[in-house]
Amino acid sequence: MNNLGTDVIVAGAGPTGLMLAHELALAGVDVVVLERLHERTGLSKALNVQPRTAEMLALRGLLDGVEERSYATVQDGHFAMIPVDYDGWDTRFPFQLGIPQAQVEEYLEERLATQGTKVIRGAEVIDFVQDKDSVSVRYRTDSGENRLHAKFLVGCDGSRSVVRKGLGVDFPGVDGEGFGVVADVLFDKIPDGAQKQWRTMRNIGQPTGATTFKGLIPLGEPGLYRFVYGDRASRPADIRSAISHDEVRQALLDSYGDSATVSEIRWASQFSDAARQAEHYRVGRVLLAGDAAHIHFPAGGQGLNLGVQDAMNLGWKLAATVRGWAGDDLLDTYEAERHPVGAQVLHNVAAQLGLTPRSHESRALRDFFAELTKLPEVNRYLAGMVSGLGIRYPTYGTSHPALGTRLNDQDVATEAGPLRPSTLFHTGDFVLLTTTQAHVDAARAHSPRLTVQLVTGLPWPSTEAVLYRPDGYACWVAAPTR
Ligand SMILES: Cc1cc2nc3c(=O)[nH]c(=O)nc-3n(C[C@H](O)[C@H](O)[C@H](O)COP(=O)(O)OP(=O)(O)OC[C@H]3O[C@@H](n4cnc5c(N)ncnc54)[C@H](O)[C@@H]3O)c2cc1C
Repeated sequence: MNNLGTDVIVAGAGPTGLMLAHELALAGVDVVVLERLHERTGLSKALNVQPRTAEMLALRGLLDGVEERSYATVQDGHFAMIPVDYDGWDTRFPFQLGIPQAQVEEYLEERLATQGTKVIRGAEVIDFVQDKDSVSVRYRTDSGENRLHAKFLVGCDGSRSVVRKGLGVDFPGVDGEGFGVVADVLFDKIPDGAQKQWRTMRNIGQPTGATTFKGLIPLGEPGLYRFVYGDRASRPADIRSAISHDEVRQALLDSYGDSATVSEIRWASQFSDAARQAEHYRVGRVLLAGDAAHIHFPAGGQGLNLGVQDAMNLGWKLAATVRGWAGDDLLDTYEAERHPVGAQVLHNVAAQLGLTPRSHESRALRDFFAELTKLPEVNRYLAGMVSGLGIRYPTYGTSHPALGTRLNDQDVATEAGPLRPSTLFHTGDFVLLTTTQAHVDAARAHSPRLTVQLVTGLPWPSTEAVLYRPDGYACWVAAPTR
């Protein structure tokens, strides 16, 4: 494995690629990010950070910077535009942060630079070849074609992923039948009833007909809104074609009549309701994450969050493989754990689209479903699904209630006083919380990649220790020794 240019090549500097590069760099892995665009467009598809993503950013000390750039705290989420509350979950962040995707990316890229990792911009991955020891990636810059060798390549290059296509991995799913439009619109006079500040998903969007929908989300700047509209049953000849500002103005007029006047349309773009998922997330030394691995209609505000959570799952596993701390099996658990999560998101998005009030019967179903969401358990289930809070990874051997679940980051008691556990995860290591000095001594003697904390109590009876993975999921517990 000589003459490698780097350990890992990440294709794509979207939120997934940047988060992954951050995780790898934190573990001391040499990483190069190749990004096709010369500079970030500044345009944002996603506008939100879900509670589980906020928890993960907090594990790395990244949440403060994201919060500083956010412009809204949104008290709820939604399922098919029906609001759901996060209050049923024991999280420190029972809300969404309103933050444009471009701001998340900019912040992650800044933090990456402080770790000494730069994004190579204007570098478009063309193709790659892999053998049993390495991957060789061909990419194009303004000065011509180049080649870079690495131990691994991760395709974080979005929905039309060149890496996925190069792998020849199947991308089964549906093409969809409809379209949506997003447009950032500056109003002189905002529509009647529009929220001035984004505080809740209530009345943000709604069906407007049997298959049509619209929504209006405040963007933080006075008068500036994200206008979303579309039709689930009709599609333009070319979904990738540009949408004209005149079309957006007409849609605004149709939606709000004279009650609103528009001074500027900043940008507009069309999107589809296709849903597809890569059959495999790993083939040899090449992996897929984020939109490169799964695409779906942006219902529930999940895509960016899913990608960042993919990156958190993959980062420490890939780092451990590269650094020789783990065997190949660990890396395979990335697909084993994240493919079902992605499939579940596609499934819930399909269910949300299924609640489109197309007919008398489906209108009744939607009303009925909205009533059901008022039941606390139903609400909790849906909120856990769209946010990622409800993920519990399979574990084997014992059925302890902590195993496979996330750190909820409630303070733990220590002799020095209460401690916030997330502060122990900033280095990206495993974290052992234990009530027993013997575990502390054993862990310190044998496991250098482990942060050990003696606590005076744990929230589970008869539990002396709980071990968390770097991404904050419990993977081992100790029952008392007698
Ligand atoms: C209209 C709309 C609204 C959305 N709203 C939300 C929302 O509210 N909440 C939410 O969570 N999600 C939302 N999403 C989804 C979210 O935007 C995506 O899931 C997210 O961008 C995925 O991030 P990514 O890093 O995986 O991919 P991308 O953001 O697509 O990033 C891929 C990067 O790879 C680069 N690239 C591509 N090809 C190459 C190549 N060959 N070589 C090098 N670089 C390459 C691209 O330039 C890009 O920078 C929305 C999506 C749409 C379309």
